[in-house]
Order: sequence, then structure tokens, then C-alpha cells
Amino acid sequence: MLNKKVADIFRNIAHILEIKGDNPFKIRAYLKAADSLENVTEDLEDVEREGRLAQIEGIGKDLAAKISEFIGFDRIKYYDELKKEVPGGLLDLLSIPGVGPKTAKLLYDKLKIADINTLEKYAREGKLRNLEGLKEKTEENILRGIELVKKGRERMDLGTAFITADKFISLLQDKPYVKKISFAGSLRRMKDTVRDIDILISSAHPEKVIDDFTRVEEVKSILNKGDTKSAVLTGDGVQVDLRVVPDNSFGAALLYFSGSKAHNIKLRQLAQKKGLKINEYGVFRARSVEDRAKAIAGKTENEIYKLLGMPFIEPELREDNGELEAALKNKLPVLINSDDIKGDLHMHSLYSDGHYSIKDMANAALKKGYDYVALTDHSIALKVANGLDLAALKRKRLEIEKLNKGLKIRILFGTEVELDNDGNTDYSDKVLSEFDIVVGAIHSGFRQPKEKITKRLIKACRNRHIDIIAHPTGRLWGVRDAYEVDFGAFFKAAADTGTFLEINSFPTRLDLNDVNARHAKESGVKIAISTDSHHIAQLDFIRFGVAVARRAWMTKHDVANTLSLKELMRVKKK
Ligand SMILES: [Zn+2]
Ligand SMILES: [Zn+2]
Repeated sequence: MLNKKVADIFRNIAHILEIKGDNPFKIRAYLKAADSLENVTEDLEDVEREGRLAQIEGIGKDLAAKISEFIGFDRIKYYDELKKEVPGGLLDLLSIPGVGPKTAKLLYDKLKIADINTLEKYAREGKLRNLEGLKEKTEENILRGIELVKKGRERMDLGTAFITADKFISLLQDKPYVKKISFAGSLRRMKDTVRDIDILISSAHPEKVIDDFTRVEEVKSILNKGDTKSAVLTGDGVQVDLRVVPDNSFGAALLYFSGSKAHNIKLRQLAQKKGLKINEYGVFRARSVEDRAKAIAGKTENEIYKLLGMPFIEPELREDNGELEAALKNKLPVLINSDDIKGDLHMHSLYSDGHYSIKDMANAALKKGYDYVALTDHSIALKVANGLDLAALKRKRLEIEKLNKGLKIRILFGTEVELDNDGNTDYSDKVLSEFDIVVGAIHSGFRQPKEKITKRLIKACRNRHIDIIAHPTGRLWGVRDAYEVDFGAFFKAAADTGTFLEINSFPTRLDLNDVNARHAKESGVKIAISTDSHHIAQLDFIRFGVAVARRAWMTKHDVANTLSLKELMRVKKK
């Protein structure tokens, strides 16, 4: 891992020197050194300790000193200085497939292009094709390259990420050389959007594992393929990074690559106070950190936390939001689990805009082991979603009554009722009083000023028929941001009136989000985790809503739909 790191830096140095028009011999020396380092099978730290760095082909005294500097300080001053001499975005250009240092220099010298966006603009306007020294096809290639880079760079929602991640895991986990396998990074911490997918594997034969990895059907292009790590792009433009480590440092590597950075920094500081050093290879007594054989822990995350005097910390909590302090006092919450959920309180059937009958939805919920399920089709004002008029409501209620006689799950007669611009409902009080569950929702007027939206939500809380407020901040990933709300006032009203607030599990919503959900919990608000399913497959989205709740430090006691039906009916508004 270290060998590759230093090689990458040397290659970047060469690129910057080339862009600057520096001495070609010097440039070649760095490139040669980078190649040479990647071919060294021994670990650089070992080589350095034995004073043999300068014996590596292409590494003279000067470069040996730079490698030592990196091993000691995790940085190379010369590289840091050099980076300041070129615009930051210029090195970025080199990440575009087909753009090398020569092209980057040409673009910068002739057109002052120093970032991807400007390059894209120029390429689209056809301003590159007449540039002397640029090949004819380059403009087209650059655009295609940019598209790929951008697609790979955008963050994706958790649902999209898991579709890819699950595929890779299921295809790799049974391979003969794979011992342990796990997600890492923000995906493992279940952040609501992730940039790329990190997978960690322990194996005694990393080269075989990496071959298997790059041959996964989804792989469209291989970004890099080293001895112990590799990165690929899928056909959807999702980047998947793999690292392979020895089994006895799997826990240390998992901890390191799961992050967050802030959590890990604090953890290392705690270790330091105990005379210990943690890195991705294990935990060491400070004096023997160079000798990997002397690791005193590292096989599992559990043993590392234990060594530092604390229980295992769930990945969702690792954001340096007080989890280490709580762990040291043994006061971590027992986080809610998907198994704690007893029913889903928000979903749609054929009556409004769902794709399945009530019976199908109920059977799917039964299959998930639920005791109850609320069918909350849209109300009359939401014409685009086929909101139910009074005649349809009557038919729906009769159908549910009939189904409830024969099914092993209780179907609740529900609605997702429109809140108009002032927070009033379209159904009358009398109609609302006939439902088992009423979910209030905003589907229009998102641009109202903060005070107005807050007032609207508070009015809904005070409505004695509204049990739950759906997707409370209205955000839709890739479509619109959350509207502005005075959360203090809103949460207080919800807590005072006993209105549950929803964590909508739909991956493009995840609303409330983790931060707001934690604020709500601390304000005494009870939460309902629901899927808003329009399809039976979407019932599985519950895992994402539960993840948000876990990131918000919630136990099952914070969540209404972990209760038995009887309890739920007792604690909800009358
Ligand atoms: Zn809705
Ligand atoms: Zn809905």
C-alpha cells in the first residue's frame, strides 16, 4: 500500500514538472522511480529500516530521503511546495482518460484551461479542434472522458450504491481465496449519499482476488490494478475500490477504511495516551510500530476497541459526534435494528398510485414478518396521484375489512392526506376520524418562506387526526433540496402534541435525515420509520430508514412502529 502511495506521488511530481516545463531528465527520473517502486515486492518500511532504499533501481540518495520523509511524516515537503506552483485543477485534468501531462500543459499554456469545467465548455464549443498540437479526435475523446469522470464523481443515493455493492459482494464472497469481505467507507457508515464503493477483503493471495475483482461482470473499465488494491468503473459510472489485506490485519484495515476520518483521528489520540499506535495494519506498542509481526491487535475491530477500553462502536455512529466519549463511559445506545420493526405505516396500493393491490402489499409485509401494515393512499386533492374521493374510500375500507378476516397481518385503513398552503387538510374532520392511521404530507408550495412552512407544519401537528407527518422536509435527491424549517419550533410542536415524524426510507428521500432525526429525538419527538412503498420490492427500503435512525443514535424505544399494534394504538393520537 505504501509502495503504491509513494509511486503515485512520484508520478504526480513528474507530471507537475512536465507541466512546468522542467528538466526532462529529472522528470524521467521520477517516472522511472515510480515504476520501480511499484515493482518492489518488499515493503518500503522494511527496506527503509534496513537502510537499503538507495539500492532500489532508480532510487538515488535524493529520492531515498524523500521516501524516508514520507514514511516518517506522511508527507513530502517538496511535493507540497510543488503542488502550490500549478493551479489545483490542472492535476485534475490528468484524471480524464486520454489527457496526459503534455495535453494538460498545452491546454493551460494556450487557453489557460486549469479545471475540468472550463475544459468541457471549450470542448463543447469546438474551441479545441484548431489548437496546434492537438490530434483531431482529441476533442471528442476529451468530452467522453469528462462525462465518465463526472459520472463517477457524482455522489449517489444509498439505494443505488447498494445495488452495485451487493452485486460485487455476492459475486466475490464465495471465491476460494476470499477469507473475509466487507464494505468500508461511507457506505458502511450508511451515509445518505456516497461517492464510491469501498470493499475490503482479507486473503493470503491478493493477486488472485484482484484478478477476480477486475473480472466481475459489472466492470466496464479498470482504473488501476496493483498488488493489493484495484479500482474499477462499472457501466453505470460507479467507482468501486478494492483493498486486499492479510487476515490478521483485517480489523485494523476495516476500521481505518470505514472512517470517518474524524473518528479515526480521535481513536489514534486515545491510543497514543496508552502508549499505543494504530494504523491500518494493527495496534502496536509505540516503539515497535515498524514491525508488523509485533501487532498486539488487528484481526477484528472488536479487539481493537476492547484494547482501548471500550465496547464495539457501530459504524453508523463513527462520525466523532460523541460516540467515543459515550463508549468510554459505556453509555452507547443499543441501536435500533431492522428486526425491531413490527409494521410499515406508509405505503400505496392500486387505489392511488401504487402498482399492487392491497392484498399483495399486505402479503409482502407479512413475508417481512410484520404484524401490521398501513395502506395510506393519497387524498382527493392530489389529482396527479389519483387521490381517493369519498366513494373510493368507502370501497377501500370495505375491501380492507374483508381482507382482515382472512390474513395473518392486520391491515390498517390509512391515508396520506394533503396539507394545503396553510396546513389544512382536504378531507373533513369527519372523514379523517374514520381512518386507523392518518399521515399528513406536503406535496406543493415548497418555496414558501421558512416562517410560513413552519406554521403549516405546526398546524398539522395540532390537528388531532394527524398521527404522522410524512417526509417532513420535502427533499428529493437530484430533484430538490429540503425546504427551510424552524426545526426547534416544529419539533417542539410535534413532541407536545404527540405527532410522530417520519423517517421516509425511500433512498432518494431519507427524510428526516440523520442530523434532523437526532435533533428530533433529543426534542422528545417519536419517530415512525416507513417506506412509502409503491411496489412490493420497495418494502425492503426499510433498511435505509433504519440506517438513518441508527445514525441518529436511536434505540427501538424512539420509534413508534417497533411497538405491538395494541401499544401503537394506545400511544398514537386519539
Ligand atoms: Zn408523499
Ligand atoms: Zn406516500
